[in-house]
Amino acid sequence: MATIIDGKQTAEVVLAECAEEIQALKESGVTPGLAVVLVGEDPASQVYVNSKVRKCTELGIHSEKIVLSKEATQEEVLETVLRLNADPAIHGILVQSPPPPQIDEDAIVRAIDPAKDVDGFHPENVAKLALEDGTGFVPCTPAGCMRLIREAGVETSGAEAVVVGRSMIVGKPMALLLMARGSDATVTVAHSRTKDLAAVCRRADIIVAAVGIPEFIREDFVKPGATIIDVGINRVEDEKAKRGYRLCGDVAYEEVLEKAGAITPVPGGVGPMTIAFLMKNTIKAARASAG
Ligand code: NAP
Repeated sequence: MATIIDGKQTAEVVLAECAEEIQALKESGVTPGLAVVLVGEDPASQVYVNSKVRKCTELGIHSEKIVLSKEATQEEVLETVLRLNADPAIHGILVQSPPPPQIDEDAIVRAIDPAKDVDGFHPENVAKLALEDGTGFVPCTPAGCMRLIREAGVETSGAEAVVVGRSMIVGKPMALLLMARGSDATVTVAHSRTKDLAAVCRRADIIVAAVGIPEFIREDFVKPGATIIDVGINRVEDEKAKRGYRLCGDVAYEEVLEKAGAITPVPGGVGPMTIAFLMKNTIKAARASAG
């Protein structure tokens, strides 16, 4: 039976570190500030944005929530970003993904001042991650996954790691973090064209699943004792659930639990870490701005 890696508990530890850092910054006259821009009314995005703003309030981070209509133009979103770039009270900016189809998300990300890009999606920060330059921002979800792996006491040096998924938000940065000096894993990145994925995954001491398909990683993908980090957040219909759906990960939790050495649950695994690392990145941006 696997050890359950408790993301909620580890996120509390990270948030306690944040509280101390915020206190020190405030004593030096700096209040960290985060602006969250939501374009449109996507219900899941609204939930994410509200929980980010709520976490800022709890911690004493100044936050601004800017809601633009679902008909907003590219120019309107760009103007908002440029205004926030120039605002000294704002140290971190994020534009909630996905925006409506008329918005060119890449162009918006490129318009964010890299020093305020707390999502770590700007090309300058992507390059810094690849270069192992610690002055950049690491995307929050993979940063949170790395912390979970470390807190669980899992050895990454020389370990075989398989990352399933190659998105810019999770898969690619996760692979870079696992292979970086200091982590030193041997990394394979799998995706929809990978042949015999189950066999590839069975080589892994560490599997990071970021696929977006409910319960995709099955028991027969898992080497006994492997560590499983489940990034997936999927809504699946469930008549018995109050809201008519339940959340599940990309890993078939119940069956993998029997075979793995350690596993993150969904919910309560990677999710809380993502928001905790958004707070960390905002504090880092505020500290850097103070010089
Ligand atoms: P994404 O951009 O849709 O990427 C999914 C990746 O999975 C792609 O690289 C895709 O391959 C690969 N894939 C799809 N079908 C596959 C298959 N049959 N076999 C192997 N690989 C396959 O998704 P994402 O943004 O990385 O998110 C992944 C999951 O994580 C989602 O459930 C999302 O909700 C969740 N998520 C959670 C958090 C959190 O805070 N916990 C944060 C971000 C995302 P191709 O590249 O070949 O298409």
